[in-house]
Amino acid sequence: MDAKEWKKTILTEKKNGYDRMPAGERGDMDRYCEAYKAFLDAGKTERECVSEGIRLAKEKGFQPYVRGMALKTGDKVYLDNRGKMLMLAVIGQKSLAEGAQITAAHIDSPRLDLKPAPLYEAEELAYLKTHYYGGIRKYQWVTIPLELHGVVILKDGKTIRVAIGEGNEPKLVINDLLPHLGAEQSKKTLAEGINGEQLNLLVGSEPMEGEEKDRVKLAVMKLLYEKYGFTEGDFISAELEAVPAFNASDIGLDRSMIGAYGHDDRVCGFAALKAMLDLEETPGKTAVCILADKEEVGSMGVSGMQTGAFDTFMEDLCDAQGVPVRVCLEKSFCLSADVTAAFDPNFPDVYEKNNASFLNYGVGLCKYTGSRGKGGASDAAAELVAYTRRIFDENGVIWQMAELGKVDAGGGGTVAAYMANRNIDTLDAGVPVLAMHAPFEVVSKLDCYMTYKGMAAVYKN
Ligand code: MN
Ligand code: MN
Repeated sequence: MDAKEWKKTILTEKKNGYDRMPAGERGDMDRYCEAYKAFLDAGKTERECVSEGIRLAKEKGFQPYVRGMALKTGDKVYLDNRGKMLMLAVIGQKSLAEGAQITAAHIDSPRLDLKPAPLYEAEELAYLKTHYYGGIRKYQWVTIPLELHGVVILKDGKTIRVAIGEGNEPKLVINDLLPHLGAEQSKKTLAEGINGEQLNLLVGSEPMEGEEKDRVKLAVMKLLYEKYGFTEGDFISAELEAVPAFNASDIGLDRSMIGAYGHDDRVCGFAALKAMLDLEETPGKTAVCILADKEEVGSMGVSGMQTGAFDTFMEDLCDAQGVPVRVCLEKSFCLSADVTAAFDPNFPDVYEKNNASFLNYGVGLCKYTGSRGKGGASDAAAELVAYTRRIFDENGVIWQMAELGKVDAGGGGTVAAYMANRNIDTLDAGVPVLAMHAPFEVVSKLDCYMTYKGMAAVYKN
């Protein structure tokens, strides 16, 4: 090889995805990103993402899975686990004894959950108390418009869907101190400037006529009853989530990026879902897509990735073919799709450039996650990384390696370990995100689209 040839093999000589993407793909990328933005606007909670996912799946001929149903090659099924986790499968040409091609992402995002007894009045202003969900930087959640989405379940089992703040509806907000009086607060660290018990949503100020005590709170309660039909006691059996009141929008004068709430991890969840819905031919192996809940708090519980519901679903699919599920799992491959931290030139100190992911360099492959000595990581085998880079290259997927920050700067983990613990060969991959976990996160359109292409490559291989 001459010097020019050798240069092509150099890892650190990276090339922007726009220099590598075929010109003909721009239209597909833009169409895909419009569909993704619509999905984000329709799904601001895990429950809404499941509903929207089912709606899209039904459009493409997916049927609800019923235990014991006969399954033949090409059948498309979905299973709604308690309205918070969605599992889909396309039955492949080969036996499940040869394994399945699985993608797993999560559809829960950081937010502020209402406490069980949230409503109170202070100095004739009404507030809702929250308990934040997932790793948030609390100071980012004040002085922005918020919406309240979720469900209230009445004692008789009736479900009331709540979505306050959409469109022309009133918004909610958490206030911060004015700078004129903020001198003492400004001396605190970012982590302490706003504390958890200050994350109280302002929800009303007009008193109820004729009352003396708690009259603003009573007026708010009356409004909720008139519009939604629930009373204060029903907050106890509710899941109401305060989420940012902004829809997804293009970012940049060139519209090359998308800003939105909840990219983590709906950006991978939608890619995994859409690639499955768009399968035009029956894949060789059975394709499985898992959109899980509770990742932001540890993936536990009946709807998190550690749930037995996944094992049961896989066992049911295997039973239909008389295959022991353990035989299927040990031959399966899982792409655990979750976002990674994009290199941010504003904060270069926490990244290590040679191994960081960059906007517009494609879907990031993470051999391992974890923090401080790979703690808590699912460290994928080198064989698995080789397999994935091969199928990505063969399918025109632009990709990059991604490590989440400098060694000892921090770290993170996701559902990969829980898939790998089940004896499934699992590799992490995902979209690089700027300002991850902020109420408004930024991703690049090219990376979104390449993640979708990567998911399609997994299903087909
Ligand atoms: Mn995530
Ligand atoms: Mn996260």
